[in-house]
Amino acid sequence: MKNASKPYKAVGLLSGGLDSTIATKLLLDQGIEVHAMNISMPWGCGRPSRVIALAAQFGIPFKSFPLGDDYLPVLTKPKYGFGSAHNPCVDCHIYMVRKAAAYMKEIGASFVFTGEVLGQRPMSQRRECLGWVEHDAGIPGQLLRPMSAKLLPPTIAEQEGIVDREKLLDISGRSRKRQFALAKELGLGGYSSPGGGCLLTEKLFGERLEDVLKRGCDNIAATAVLGLGRYFRIDDTAFVILGRDNAENEKLVRYAVPGDVILRPTVFPGPAALLRGGTIDEARLAFVAGLSQFHSKSRDKAPQPLQCWHAQEPDKVSQVTAAVLTQADVDKLQL
Ligand code: SF4
Repeated sequence: MKNASKPYKAVGLLSGGLDSTIATKLLLDQGIEVHAMNISMPWGCGRPSRVIALAAQFGIPFKSFPLGDDYLPVLTKPKYGFGSAHNPCVDCHIYMVRKAAAYMKEIGASFVFTGEVLGQRPMSQRRECLGWVEHDAGIPGQLLRPMSAKLLPPTIAEQEGIVDREKLLDISGRSRKRQFALAKELGLGGYSSPGGGCLLTEKLFGERLEDVLKRGCDNIAATAVLGLGRYFRIDDTAFVILGRDNAENEKLVRYAVPGDVILRPTVFPGPAALLRGGTIDEARLAFVAGLSQFHSKSRDKAPQPLQCWHAQEPDKVSQVTAAVLTQADVDKLQL
């Protein structure tokens, strides 16, 4: 039974959206000590800034965990398959709940909760999927979904009176009308707009990711660049990404990992290029420089020089002259 002198702790695996915000408020109102967490994906939803804002709004602790390389099998062999793109949503939830369960044990919390709503998303929030997640994450009875709790079997926290089930909700489906009304009633604001944001649900990104994963990848952080720019498969071992604007050019430089080569135009405005993999020789570098010039307003000018360096040696900058490329050269590189 509930011990009034010592608040029970719960780990909230949160997105920072409306549902998460309401779920957190419902538990705080019941005297639960909420510890917010999220898993920060290099290219997807779960951006820490949203949950940081939620945690600040309620004055609760927050911890962000970066997605680890142990997520790679989720991307290559998901037990429950993919959604309409390369999104393994059920397995992804299982992975995240497992991490939350580990954190729950670490801080001595009694349960994990999420802002999930039964039936809100076609793949991962069907009734049976909610059960699979809890079971496969290894915490049967310890995963509470406050938004839909009354429609789901009681969790241990409800059975033991740690949480009053009567004060939880029975929301299901895609409509958000009730959530908006509740947010108003509870005086909540500042939550981020619902849905979106995960590149794994985008077809084009999924194709790039698949293209890289099928050739072998052991570093999840290195896939962050795949969310940027134009992607070109040079051969079986190498690809190039060109930035589409200044912001992407800067990100390409920032997200580069040891082994990558960066090329940047200096005398003409044009895209930065990131080359990853394969044999790096003068001809290859000239070709990549040519790709950059081809995608600039200087396409028809004489071959231009670009600066070039290895990501691990940013101070050792050399110069390379762009090769002349035709539309046919470029067309055969695109996915
Ligand atoms: S949309 Fe699916 S794959 Fe993307 S983070 Fe959410 S659960 Fe994971």
